[in-house]
Amino acid sequence: MEVSFLGAAREVGRSAILLEGKKKILLDCGLKLDNEDELFPIIEQRTVRKLDYVALSHAHLDHSGFIPGLYEQGYRKKTVLTKPTRDLTQLLLADALRINEDVPYDEKDVSRFLASTHMLEYSERAGPFVFHEAGHILGSAQVEINDAKRVLYTGDINTRPTRLLEGAKTGLAAEALIIESTYGSPYDSLPSLKESGAYLANSIKETLRRGGKVLIPTFAIGRGQEILFTLESYMRSGGIPHAPIYLDGMIKKALRIYRHNAIYLKREVQRRILTSEDDPFNSEFYAFPEKKDRSDVFAAGPCIILSTSGMLNGGPILTYIKALGGDPKNKIILVGYQAKGTRGRELLEGADELSIDNERAPINMQIDEARFSGHCDHKDLMEFIKQVKGLKKVFIVHGEEEKEEEFARSIEQWAHKAKRNVDVVVPRLGETHKI
Ligand SMILES: [Zn+2]
Ligand SMILES: [Zn+2]
Repeated sequence: MEVSFLGAAREVGRSAILLEGKKKILLDCGLKLDNEDELFPIIEQRTVRKLDYVALSHAHLDHSGFIPGLYEQGYRKKTVLTKPTRDLTQLLLADALRINEDVPYDEKDVSRFLASTHMLEYSERAGPFVFHEAGHILGSAQVEINDAKRVLYTGDINTRPTRLLEGAKTGLAAEALIIESTYGSPYDSLPSLKESGAYLANSIKETLRRGGKVLIPTFAIGRGQEILFTLESYMRSGGIPHAPIYLDGMIKKALRIYRHNAIYLKREVQRRILTSEDDPFNSEFYAFPEKKDRSDVFAAGPCIILSTSGMLNGGPILTYIKALGGDPKNKIILVGYQAKGTRGRELLEGADELSIDNERAPINMQIDEARFSGHCDHKDLMEFIKQVKGLKKVFIVHGEEEKEEEFARSIEQWAHKAKRNVDVVVPRLGETHKI
């Protein structure tokens, strides 16, 4: 059996892994946004036409964003995914088409993809696939492939339970493991959800009491819902003063999809939805901007504004920064990874102005950071690997190059100490390896 890395090799973005055994299988097919440029997986049309299956681990565009491109190139078979992944991917692709002019497919290809989906429940078997919970976002899956060998692809994983999801399933069996490494460096240690929540609540409390507004830029899917439910819970229990929580951008639509797919959420959340006075999706604290220019929100008193995009690349958050960023009473709290070259990173590095729509927007508001992650940190990843049964080979993907190398060394050290014969590979883009 062979595995080829067509993307996400020594990089985060454009995840695409080709498995060739009895069947030809593509795992994920995403986009990479690299300073305005879009990069695609390096897949040739003749490979696309020979594929037997595509499996999608979860909806994020770095995993899903080029799947319609496969249909554009003549792929006519199924894409295997979970139902929430289908719903969320539909939302994200529609948005990607609206914003970007240079994606090499159109609505027809998106429809073709949606008409060719095969939905799979966790633990159910279909062809060579079994999906397992990945704990990353709603519907996210680890993909187990039973072909000439048994292979496990983690997609993006989080083994810690969050407010909405159970942690990823561990203790699975696989001869070869293809694992993400976003926080794979031994220096990557993430605070617990409880610590992050408490820090966020304190930071918000301080600003609201001063009469300021709090901006929280966030990804539409995954972290957005986790943050929202954290705030709702603190507010209900009196941990932060009552104030409207404005939801703006795609996060609102994504929330509806989360609600429709509630059976994929934690039992506890499902129970709260059923007892309607405690439904976290219908909280009395949520508010929505009514005016297109958001003047109603600007005129409101102290409030919290949750809006996309998470790294300030675009979205309504920029409108808020322009209007509110000059006032030192206000605060912006960054909650996720801020890639190099983004406005989010500029803020963390202390920028006192940002360029938005070719204008300089002064930044006098306070800047704070509370880390919430949908990924395992180094320790969690190591623990996950130790629990894989029958493991012979590990391929590290979906991480910055240095982190992948450091992660590989950690795995080798463990294998050596534990007297386990495990081969570790950090593949380069376009490489093919034997399993
Ligand atoms: Zn993801
Ligand atoms: Zn990812």
